[in-house]
Amino acid sequence: MDTIFAQSSARGKAGVAIFRISGPNSLAAMETLTDIQNITPRMLHLKTLTSSRSNENKVVIDNAMVVYFKAPNSFTGEDVVEIHTHGSIAIAQLLTESLLSAGLLRLAEPGEFAKRAFLNGKLDLTSAEGLADLIEAETIMQHRQAMRQMSGELEKLYGGWRKELLGIISFLEAYIDFPDEDIPDSVLQNAEDKIHNLTLTLQKHLSDNRRGERLRNGLKLTILGAPNVGKSSLLNFLAQREIAIVSDIAGTTRDVIETHLDIGGYPIILTDTAGIRKDTEDLIEKEGIKRALKEASHSDIKLVMFEADSRSPEIEELIDFETILVMNKIDLYPETSNVGVIPISLKLGKGLDALLKAIEQKAESISPPSEAPSITRLRQRTHIEQGLSALQCCNLHEDLVLATEDIRIAVRAFEAITGKLEVDEILGEIFSNFCIGK
Ligand code: GDP
Repeated sequence: MDTIFAQSSARGKAGVAIFRISGPNSLAAMETLTDIQNITPRMLHLKTLTSSRSNENKVVIDNAMVVYFKAPNSFTGEDVVEIHTHGSIAIAQLLTESLLSAGLLRLAEPGEFAKRAFLNGKLDLTSAEGLADLIEAETIMQHRQAMRQMSGELEKLYGGWRKELLGIISFLEAYIDFPDEDIPDSVLQNAEDKIHNLTLTLQKHLSDNRRGERLRNGLKLTILGAPNVGKSSLLNFLAQREIAIVSDIAGTTRDVIETHLDIGGYPIILTDTAGIRKDTEDLIEKEGIKRALKEASHSDIKLVMFEADSRSPEIEELIDFETILVMNKIDLYPETSNVGVIPISLKLGKGLDALLKAIEQKAESISPPSEAPSITRLRQRTHIEQGLSALQCCNLHEDLVLATEDIRIAVRAFEAITGKLEVDEILGEIFSNFCIGK
């Protein structure tokens, strides 16, 4: 196995930068920069790193903290050295050049450290995906979900189902191997019950309203309403910066404007859209309205805004049971009130806390913090669906060999999720999404 090297912290200027080496030459490569004889594993050592220990014109790179993790007790399961230098671009360049010049290691591919951790049995695929999500997490709820997955929650769940099915297979195979033996009805019934129960569990697990995937990707919130009701002003308030042009000329927002927010720990992808009205001849505005309606059909949360009680028929069409209804400009119409509608004034800053709470509650109802582990990727969902359909095909009262094969297909589906089999093509897909140095 090659020895690999990468900067694991983000590139650029920083107080500290962290570099990682993994593989059999880790210590030998470090030896070319500093004296690391008798280095104690898992202890930080202060070392002066020089560009070449033998060269007369050697350059001192930095005084760095070096820590050695001896295989197999490391993230990758291999010999690992981590180097903590000052976070300078020049140091990163000198260190990289010096380490590569010895010819003992090469630069790591994206995700290669995590891939090695997987190959050495340190992580299953779902935990690796959880780790990738943890690095990407921008809000508390995303962080919570990623932590649960990284700590092996999904692996435990799918591994448990796999084990249960293997148990059934081993029972049935005993009868396949001895065809002269009659299978007692109780054995068949027991296997059938177990498969039936697992089928129900899988159906329940799948009918989750895609809460985990939606939380991972961010919940799409679209602001809809007639021109001039205050949609762009709301976007600006929510984003706390001037990203949409606010003006009182109808039709100013002609395209879809998108921004990412954290509301109550939920990742919200907010889109402001063109005002919706039927009486426009402006082609660009018409296109904007078309896009607004398309956005609305894809969104997780629709926020329909109107002024006082001026709800036009075309706005009425957009409202469904799940829509958040907001009445803006109550400063102009203090007398108007409406059941199920949140009254606000963006001008006076009134009612905005209630609106934020309503968005948070809606997000929570879509992706509730649940006790049960969530599916977070289409890849997992697809394999679970494959497992389910195999179990639904399984008929123990017909050909027992075929029925056992159906169960085996389901077992393989769960193995593909956790990676407990040869899955080169899945590996490529997952680890290529990691950043270099992870
Ligand atoms: P949009 O076309 O729906 O995006 O509406 P804008 O956000 O561009 O706002 C249209 C006009 O309404 C602007 O002149 C805003 O300053 C004004 N406006 C927004 N919110 C309020 C409010 O709460 N009260 C009053 N009186 N005017 C508002």
